[in-house]
Formats: sequence, C-alpha cells, structure tokens
Amino acid sequence: MENPEQWGGGGRRVVVIGGGVAGSFIAKSLQFHADVTLIDPKDYFEIPWASLRAMVEPSFAERSVIHHKDYLTNGHLIVSSAINITDTEVLTSEGRLVTYDYLVIATGHNDPSPKNRTEKLKQYQAENEKIKASQSILIIGGGPTGVELAGEIAVDFPEKKVTLVHNGSRLLEFIGPKASNKTLDWLRSKKVDMKLEQTVNLNNISDGSKTFITSAGETIKADCHFVCTGKPLGSAWLEGTVLKESLDSFGRLKVDENMRVKGRKNIFAIGDITDIKEIKQGYFAQKHALVAAKNLKLLMTGGKETKMAIYEPRSVKAIVSLGRQDAVAQFSFTTVIGLVPGFIKSRDLFVGKTRKLMGLDPNVVYS
Ligand SMILES: Cc1cc2nc3c(=O)[nH]c(=O)nc-3n(C[C@H](O)[C@H](O)[C@H](O)COP(=O)(O)OP(=O)(O)OC[C@H]3O[C@@H](n4cnc5c(N)ncnc54)[C@H](O)[C@@H]3O)c2cc1C
Repeated sequence: MENPEQWGGGGRRVVVIGGGVAGSFIAKSLQFHADVTLIDPKDYFEIPWASLRAMVEPSFAERSVIHHKDYLTNGHLIVSSAINITDTEVLTSEGRLVTYDYLVIATGHNDPSPKNRTEKLKQYQAENEKIKASQSILIIGGGPTGVELAGEIAVDFPEKKVTLVHNGSRLLEFIGPKASNKTLDWLRSKKVDMKLEQTVNLNNISDGSKTFITSAGETIKADCHFVCTGKPLGSAWLEGTVLKESLDSFGRLKVDENMRVKGRKNIFAIGDITDIKEIKQGYFAQKHALVAAKNLKLLMTGGKETKMAIYEPRSVKAIVSLGRQDAVAQFSFTTVIGLVPGFIKSRDLFVGKTRKLMGLDPNVVYS
C-alpha cells in the first residue's frame, strides 16, 4: 500500500479530508480502487444522528462511534487536521505533507470532539451522569439537535423538568411550519416548557451556572444545560489556501454537477460543505459521495469527463426523532408525526443501516 506504483504508475492517490458521513463513506468505497488516505482529527467516525440517544443511553454509542480502521481496512489513516492545501499536497497540523492525484474535501461541520473513541464514549457516560443527577435541564436551541435531545430526555426521564429556549418563532426552521407546529404540540404534551423567540446569553454562562436569564427577562433555574445552537461550517481552514476563491459568502465550496470544485479537474467536495441548494442532510451527503466515487473511478481508469455522473439536488425530506417511538417527518407529499415515522427512524436511528453501508455488522457490540 505504501508504494503508489502498485496502482499502475501513480495517478491514483486519493486524499479524503474529513472523516464524517461523506468522507468516511467515500474513503470506504474507493479503498480497493485507489491508494486512499483519510485525514480526520479523530480516530473514529460517528453517526451524528445517534448522538442524542447516546446521551440518555451511553451504550448506544458502542455501535454509532466506529473506529475508522474498522471500515478502512485497505487505506491509510492520518489522525490530524488538514490546515493547508496546494495543487498537489495537503499539509496537516502535525506537519505532514501528503501528496495527492485527486482530493476530496468533506470537512462538513466543525465539532470539537475527543481525539479517540474511548474518550468519546467516556464523554457520553459523563453527559448521561449529568442528566441523571439533574432535576431540571435547560436546552438552548430548537433546531434538530435541541429538539431531538428534548425528546430523548422527556421520554426517558419524564420526571425531569425540561425547558427549551429557542430564538426563532418556530422550531425546526429547516423544514416547514406544519412540522414545527406538530413538534411544538408534541413537546408540550411531554411537559417540556417551551420558550420561543427568546435567547440566553451564552457568554454569561459557565458549566456551573444554575440560573439563566432570557432576553425576555425570564429567569430559568436548571441544574444543567446543553447548548444545541448548531456548529460552524468546517471551511475556515480553506480561507488561506488555493481554494479561497472557491468559497461562497457562507463559506461553502462551490461545486459543479459532477461534485468537483468549480474550475478544478481533480478536486471534489461532498457533504455539508458544498453550496448545493438542498437541506444539509447526511442522507444527501452519502449520495454526493456515491456520485463523486463513481466519477473518481471513471477518471482514474482514463474514462471521458463527458461520461461523468451528475448529482441532482433532492427535494426536502427529513425525519426528526422524538424519543424512542415517535418522530416528525416531512415528505414531499405530506407531514406526519407519531409512531409511523417513529417506526422508520426512532428505534435504531438508522445505526444498523449505516453500519451495513460501511460494510460492518449492524449489531456488533464491542466488549
Ligand atoms: C443531531 C443531528 C441529527 C441529524 N439527523 C439527521 C438525520 O436523521 N438524517 C440525515 O440525513 N441527516 C441528519 N443530520 C445531518 C447530518 O449529520 C449531516 O448532514 C452530515 O453529518 C454531513 O456530513 P459531512 O460528511 O458533510 O460532514 P460531517 O459529518 O460534519 O463531518 C465532517 C468531518 O470533517 C472533519 N474535519 C473538520 N475539519 C477538518 C480539517 N480541517 N481536517 C480534517 N478533518 C476535518 C470532522 O472532524 C468530521 O469528521 C443530523 C445532524 C445532527 C447534528
């Protein structure tokens, strides 16, 4: 593996930056077709939509936090952040220069996380203990993360007082108002105290804070709090690189219909970091990876550019889980809440399905 000549004289060194939903999947898909190197600051891939369940049930993370090495059996892994790129190389924060023939950028969202899997599992254990030890819990942010966390806690710990503060006039603003209203009613039915159009000043709170004043002057007392206000895009590191002109005003990489960075022959971008006009979903990130993998295989075997696969943006479709049984779903034809969408997502949160996609046993539990 260390000698690119074995691939028929080079030209097949693929470097993937970012080991999230899109990057891990493309690295896994290409590993027997190219000399693949995955660069990620963590030694594991985490299924993001399982993270809130892991806070109420830490053992859930045993299946959803996966060593990169478990699925990347025929590629190289560099546990580090990319900090710069040139037309031929990637520089990592630890000073390694990695040469590429093809580059795939999949740095999605920035979420400072422990570097190794064991530490990540301990983090879930600690968060779970914090929830268990608290009588009252404040959640700040009413997007999918805040809503799913409120749902998990309200269902698993109905005796706890949960308050959710959201700055917008409705929850889940990334989908339609029908879904927001149904979700609001569901959370209220579980006795979650909802405070819309209010904020909590994050600069004034620390880990030990127990009293919170909202922008409307209300006082909330909570034994612990969780900030679920969304994460920044993982593209700031590209601002000083050869791709700085390829970023749009939101910091997203401009891509063409083949998932290549516009104007670049050998640089692809996939997942949340792209400027594709669709909601940012792991499901779509996987579809981007499939198209990019297909195109990379074609180019590496000397295929014609005109034969490259095209990515068609998808219509809004989302399922937000509400505890272990219910969910709210927006499909193109209708919006529903309750056991039916819950049956699709909420029991296993697509963990077995995602593990299968990564070539792993859906059920395995590490000892
Ligand atoms: C709570 C929650 C629930 C969700 N539920 C769903 C759902 O039900 N269905 C669905 O389809 N989507 C869901 N999503 C959205 C989905 O998780 C994202 O769309 C998806 O993770 C995007 O994948 P990505 O690979 O582009 O980015 P990410 O998954 O964010 O991965 C980015 C990776 O890049 C790495 N990285 C960042 N900077 C660097 C750097 N400089 N160098 C190297 N590596 C770097 C990060 O460490 C990370 O591993 C949910 C998200 C959250 C947070």
